[in-house]
Amino acid sequence: MSSRQIICVDLDAFFCSVEELLDPSLKGKPIIVGADPRGRGVVSSASYAAREYGVRSAMPISRAARLCPHAIFLPVRHGVYGEYSQKVMSVLAEYTPLFEPVSIDEAFLDVTLSQDLFGSAEQIGKEIQRRIRQDIGLPASLGIATNKLVAKIASDLGKPSGFVQVPSGTEAAFLAPLPVEKLWGVGLKTAQRLHALGFHTIGDLAQAPADKLQREFGVNGLALHQHALGIDDSPVKPGGPPKSVSQEHTFPQDVSAEAEIGRHLLHLSQGVAHQLRSQGFQARTVVLKLRYHDFATITRSVTLEAPTDLDHKIFDSVLGLFRKHWRQGDKIRLVGVGAHNLVPETAYQLGLFGPGEERYGRLHRTVDAIRQKYGDDIIVPAALVGTGEGSQPKGKRDSGAPRSLPA
Ligand SMILES: [Mg+2]
Repeated sequence: MSSRQIICVDLDAFFCSVEELLDPSLKGKPIIVGADPRGRGVVSSASYAAREYGVRSAMPISRAARLCPHAIFLPVRHGVYGEYSQKVMSVLAEYTPLFEPVSIDEAFLDVTLSQDLFGSAEQIGKEIQRRIRQDIGLPASLGIATNKLVAKIASDLGKPSGFVQVPSGTEAAFLAPLPVEKLWGVGLKTAQRLHALGFHTIGDLAQAPADKLQREFGVNGLALHQHALGIDDSPVKPGGPPKSVSQEHTFPQDVSAEAEIGRHLLHLSQGVAHQLRSQGFQARTVVLKLRYHDFATITRSVTLEAPTDLDHKIFDSVLGLFRKHWRQGDKIRLVGVGAHNLVPETAYQLGLFGPGEERYGRLHRTVDAIRQKYGDDIIVPAALVGTGEGSQPKGKRDSGAPRSLPA
């Protein structure tokens, strides 16, 4: 049986690496891209220098600020990262049609049949890594294996700028010493149960009788056992737009004033619409997320008559959802706006909408160009100015003063 050759490409500390590329004076410094460090948001990306202090993505930004108070805190610029992501993805797409982006900074390639044209999987991988580094300027880690599961773990293991190849037939031996947490689908809860049963390494799991795992975990137990042996038949699923785009905001204090929540929904709608346009997609479904003061979280969605990437269309839908599902007076901790069911943008070119729509489209693109340069928070709806939220040009880096903690 001839084995597949799968490459997993994962960019290292992607948002931070883009910021370093655009401002080389940041190179090697602890950089944290994410929410305002004085607020209650989270870290989106931490540079390797910041990770040395224990900072991790998805960690509360306030905790990151305590761990690494001298870090350089930068606002998220989705549009800019989207553009660099597209550059990387278009390099990858040159090597195989079996190419699956799994997130903004990660993709799988099935190069089994590409080897006749471009050389061995190893040669293809080396060339891709070199091109991403030299032509685009970003560090990436690659894993090569006979399936997605092992390729992904291999790419992770070499970070940053790693290159790890797992030869056919050595998958189980490669995985055996690693902790069970490295396997797909093993979250905190499953890991705790596995530890309690005496399984600490993937090798422990591989040696366990499959029926024991099935008794403990049902069908998932069988999958777990297969994965522990390094077996994974899932195909690389080519093409397709990203599944969704979303942005959220955590309030510094819980909020129950409708106007204030509404202002933020507007800001987030604009951010999501910008992200859609920068990546060339429109959304059919708009999603509202609300987290209450007690952390209870709901998401509600509405499907549009026609797909859109326009700020006001997304905001209208989100506001409608909010008014329908929010009970007056309920305290809100976090609001989020999402766009799902994405399709490639076409509407403007086809002239499906009237001239008014087209003008909106042009206006939004001008605004996008300014955001690209100064950060997502630079342009805020007039309603937000003076609320202390987004009223300062936080992302304005040309002044040489990135956002930092108050002294
Ligand atoms: Mg990554």
